[in-house]
Amino acid sequence: AYNERESLYIVLNFAKEFFVKNLLTEEGKAIGLSYFKERGFTPEIIEKFDLGYAMNGWDYLLQAAQKGGHSTDLLLKAGLILQKEGDASRFYDRFRGRVTFTIHNLGGKSIGFGARILTQDKKQPKYINSPETEVYHKSDILYGIFQAKKSIREKDNCYLVEGYTDVISLHLAGIENVVASSGTSLTENQIKLIKRFTDNITVLYDGDAAGIRASLRGIDMILEGGLNVKAVVFPEGEDPDSFARKVGSAAFSSYLADNAQDFISFMIGLHADDAGNDPIKQADLIKQVVQSISKIPDPVIRTVYVRQSAGLLEIDEQIIQAELNKIYLKSQ
Ligand code: ATP
Ligand code: MN
Ligand code: MN
Ligand code: MN
Repeated sequence: AYNERESLYIVLNFAKEFFVKNLLTEEGKAIGLSYFKERGFTPEIIEKFDLGYAMNGWDYLLQAAQKGGHSTDLLLKAGLILQKEGDASRFYDRFRGRVTFTIHNLGGKSIGFGARILTQDKKQPKYINSPETEVYHKSDILYGIFQAKKSIREKDNCYLVEGYTDVISLHLAGIENVVASSGTSLTENQIKLIKRFTDNITVLYDGDAAGIRASLRGIDMILEGGLNVKAVVFPEGEDPDSFARKVGSAAFSSYLADNAQDFISFMIGLHADDAGNDPIKQADLIKQVVQSISKIPDPVIRTVYVRQSAGLLEIDEQIIQAELNKIYLKSQ
């Protein structure tokens, strides 16, 4: 007999293989595979990431899984089916009529799925994801870590993006040291996971207001975790995926190399439009930078950043230090 975790891995692997095979059905080819092709995904990348298709019907997976001997109880616990409202004895597939992105754990086991809608239907969410289960803890895992870990160690850097398709597009561009936080804000455990392979993270969030806000939050979390952080800003409206496809692999790689900024320069850049002459905005910027520096646990590294920020902000080091002391006094 298997224990529950092992049973979950088995049924999740069954679902993964089912979704992958669906891509070869008439419906899967016409809808799923052609969608991936339109996005420039190659057969190799589809295989590497176990991309698939959930048929457009109520119980394709449920039926197949039951035939394969998997109980509805297990399918429920795996987050693969839902209970019908008002009739707890009836069930239906969670993922229907969507392309699927398999989420792997560090060892490569399938632990959950993200699924993207193919139409422009505004009434439905663009992505739906597996719920928390005994083997899938959103806050502990990063999309792409299994495919990225070797390269992260080799490059001694990890690119952090927002979405599934950003991870895949970077791989297509020859960049394999990339993971995604996939819609949730970055957690301490996710940073610890990266820290097993490198101390350096480069944040590549979407070039929109939400992406910039998420970058700032992410940067503070990364600094708190004791890692070094850089950030790259993309043109407004572009994310790493769209930008990579627009400019091509070579130009994309040089863009990353040329535009990776340390977090202080990144913050200064965000204020570049307004902080120039306005003393109040300039002060806000300084306080924001100091706030981030205060997150750094190592006093020696902190001192280096105090010096660097003083230079970049053209302000006396002692003022930065005094501002920093204020924050520490407040938190006592
Ligand atoms: P695409 O390029 O396919 O349109 P994206 O990855 O660029 O998708 P974003 O809107 O930038 O999509 O969102 C980033 C990530 O946030 C997604 O990859 C997904 O993991 C998550 N996400 C987006 N929309 C939703 C949603 N409605 N529900 C849950 N998660 C979502
Ligand atoms: Mn976005
Ligand atoms: Mn995006
Ligand atoms: Mn996108």
